[in-house]
Amino acid sequence: MPYRKGHHRAEILTGGYTVLMRWLFIPLIIVGLQIAGHSEVTALSQSDIYLSSQVILQGDLGIIKIKVKTGETPHVTWMGRKIYLIPDPDKTSWQGLIAADLTKKPGRYEARVRIFPSGNEKRLEIEIVDKDYGVRRLTLPKHMVDLDAETLKRVRKESGKMKMLWEAQATTPVWSGSFQRPIPGKVIGPFGRRSIINEQPRSPHTGVDLRGAAGTPIKAINNGKVILTGDHFFTGRTVVLDHGGEILSMYFHLDKIKVQHGDLVKKGQVIGLVGSTGRVTGPHLHWGMKINNARVDPLRLISISKELEEEWPKKSSKTP
Ligand SMILES: [Zn+2]
Repeated sequence: MPYRKGHHRAEILTGGYTVLMRWLFIPLIIVGLQIAGHSEVTALSQSDIYLSSQVILQGDLGIIKIKVKTGETPHVTWMGRKIYLIPDPDKTSWQGLIAADLTKKPGRYEARVRIFPSGNEKRLEIEIVDKDYGVRRLTLPKHMVDLDAETLKRVRKESGKMKMLWEAQATTPVWSGSFQRPIPGKVIGPFGRRSIINEQPRSPHTGVDLRGAAGTPIKAINNGKVILTGDHFFTGRTVVLDHGGEILSMYFHLDKIKVQHGDLVKKGQVIGLVGSTGRVTGPHLHWGMKINNARVDPLRLISISKELEEEWPKKSSKTP
C-alpha cells in the first residue's frame, strides 16, 4: 500500500466515497451490459494513486502519481487549481507536484482525481501543516533600509513585472524527470526565514541562497523557456525560467546572463554566472521556485526528485 501509516482520517473519508461509488456503478454496469454490451466500469482504487505524503508542510511539496489504462487520461485539481501531470512514454502512469505555499493557512484541503473518459473519481485529503522556518533580526543604518522616491518607483515597477509572470496563463509542461541543483554550493541563507530589520517585520525569504564564487556557471534545473531577463534593484541580474505546467524557477544576483528572453533551454544548460548584483553583501545565487503559484523550498524539489525518476515508488517518503 503506497500510503503512509497514521492517516486514517483520509482513508475513512475516501473509503466512504468508494462505497458510494460501488453503489452507483453496480446499476450502471447492469444497464450497460443489457443495452449495449458495455465495457466494464471500474472504480478508481487506492492502488492506482500514489501520494508521497498526505501531510505537506508550509513551503513544501509532494508527488502524486496515477496509473490508468491505455487511452485514459487523469485530471487532478487541488485548491481549485489544475495540477499538471506528465505521462510516461506509454501514457499509463502520470505524475505531478502538489505544492503548499510558504504562508498557506494550515488545514485539510481536498484533491480531486478524475479519470477520463470514464469519469471515475476519487477524493483525497491532503493536510497542510504549519512550519516555523525561523527568524533573523538585523539592525541596519536607516539609509540602507529606506528607499528614496525614485528607487521606490523602480522597485514597484519591477515587482509588477514579476507579478505578471505569476499571473500568466500556464503553459504545456516541458520539464521531465528529476530536477537538478543550479550550482553545487552550500546553503548560506535558508528558505522561509523571516527577517526583522530595525524592529520592522519584512517579507520572508522565498528562495534559498547558495554559496558560489563569482563566475560559477548556473545551470537550468530542468528544461524550460526563458520568460524574463533583467537587471532589478533588489534581485540584480535576474533570470526566470518557465518549465511549463505552472512550474517556474528564478535566479537572482547574476554577474552575467547567458540566455535571452524566449530561449528554450535544456536541463543542465548554463543560463548565467554567479555574481553579486542587486542589493547583496557578496556573491551568491538566490534560487527561488513557484509551483502552482505556491512559493516552495527549492531544495525539497531536489530531495524528492529521485521519486520523479521512478515509475512507481516502492516505499513512501519520510514523514515531514
Ligand atoms: Zn536570497
